[in-house]
Amino acid sequence: KLSQRLEAVSSYIPKGAVLADIGSDHAYLPCYAVLNELAEEAIAGEVVEGPFQSAVEQVAKSGLENRIEVRKGSGLSVLEKGEADCITIAGMGGTLITKILEEGRSILSGKERLILQPNVNANNIRKWLIDNEWQLLHEQILEEDEKIYEILVAEKGAPLLHYSKDKLETELLLGPILMRENSDVFEKKWKNERKHWERVLSDLSKAPGTPENLRKTEELKMKIKEIEEAVNNE
Ligand code: SAM
Repeated sequence: KLSQRLEAVSSYIPKGAVLADIGSDHAYLPCYAVLNELAEEAIAGEVVEGPFQSAVEQVAKSGLENRIEVRKGSGLSVLEKGEADCITIAGMGGTLITKILEEGRSILSGKERLILQPNVNANNIRKWLIDNEWQLLHEQILEEDEKIYEILVAEKGAPLLHYSKDKLETELLLGPILMRENSDVFEKKWKNERKHWERVLSDLSKAPGTPENLRKTEELKMKIKEIEEAVNNE
């Protein structure tokens, strides 16, 4: 059975797509997508030998060798330009996902749907999408096994559609669509983040007042203020 997280990712795949799942590990997502006719065919990309082998094995075990190709290589470099209609990159940090998109920029035709599922640092991805003129279509936040995940879905288009000029920094951090939706999981996540940053800030106040520490203090205060403005944290 597929995790709730990956099932949520799969729900955004356009029907009949050629799917590329980058950093596929065990290839659960492309196998599920093809078996359930969400995707017509799929490419599973993996850069590390162990996970690459487990993807190959899972595809064979599912009898899907004729519909899923497992390729070894880093990021989008396993793809030809325009080959995939939908690209999923899930289960990594937002910084790594952003790096994969940036390094693979020339492979993106602009016709793809991107489904990105960062575990942390979704703000980096939102910034990249704006800078490269991708438009957010959906954002989802969900909790599974005590962990909170975000999903960002984007296509080429008007990058600032869901953003407002005066709250851009806050919306980059929290997600403009998630902010508006303001779900319980969203509140929980930012309550936790705020507590965490307040603890770091308090530790920092006991450390020597070096320029670096003062800079960090200001940065943390900004972040905490952004959360306070956006989320009702009692
Ligand atoms: N996508 C699956 C999921 O969401 O369950 C697997 C997530 S797993 C934590 C991250 C995978 O990404 C690892 O198997 C790792 O080897 C792979 N990975 C990391 N950097 C990569 C890159 N630049 N290109 C391709 N795969 C990468």
